[in-house]
Amino acid sequence: MASGKSFSDYRHFVRRYAQFSKVFYLSQSLLPKERGLSSKSQEVLCMLNKRRTDAQRIIAELNSSLSSVCADCKGECCRGSYDHFTYIDYWLRRYSESPLQTCGTEGFVPFRQSLLKRFGLHDQSNDKIGRNGCTFLHDGGCRLAVTDRPIRCVAFTCSRLRRAMDTQKHVMYGRLIRDLFLTSVCAFNILKEEADFPTRYGYLSLLVTP
Ligand code: SF4
Ligand code: SF4
Repeated sequence: MASGKSFSDYRHFVRRYAQFSKVFYLSQSLLPKERGLSSKSQEVLCMLNKRRTDAQRIIAELNSSLSSVCADCKGECCRGSYDHFTYIDYWLRRYSESPLQTCGTEGFVPFRQSLLKRFGLHDQSNDKIGRNGCTFLHDGGCRLAVTDRPIRCVAFTCSRLRRAMDTQKHVMYGRLIRDLFLTSVCAFNILKEEADFPTRYGYLSLLVTP
């Protein structure tokens, strides 16, 4: 049973997070932020943003019974002085009632480094990210409502948090993160189309994510 859960952890959370990182990374060079999009793309992005907020709202409900785990650790995963919002967050919200003014790129970890990290071989002493803390972090945790948080933050789960989930919650959480991932991929597809990139751009990279 334990190994079943470990594999499920890997498949639905660890590997998925690595795939998210790739989509975030690949999307940042597609279009300049000030570029206007077609009305059809705007409409689809608004629809996708609604899907994103719905998924994040349900994740918040699931998280309510797990909040003591994060409260005890005081937001270890919220370290990093970079902007946790990515271009995917930016474009999803661009035509919403609460658009983002900015988004960051510094949180991206090069692939080789992320692989070493995954296997515990990464020397963290040289990391420039990881110590100062996100500007939204305060003593009581994140200032932002879960629906307003960066996708990156909502999609991240540490092993402590996953261990605190019972099987049913684990499955539901994995499904919601998958939904957030598919929403991000749909937004990525729109950006590719607007930038005249081939639809297949990035797919192989996502597929071979270890
Ligand atoms: S997800 Fe994990 S590392 Fe992040 S605040 Fe919760 S317990 Fe801490
Ligand atoms: S936005 Fe909130 S959840 Fe994300 S890193 Fe900052 S404090 Fe943490």
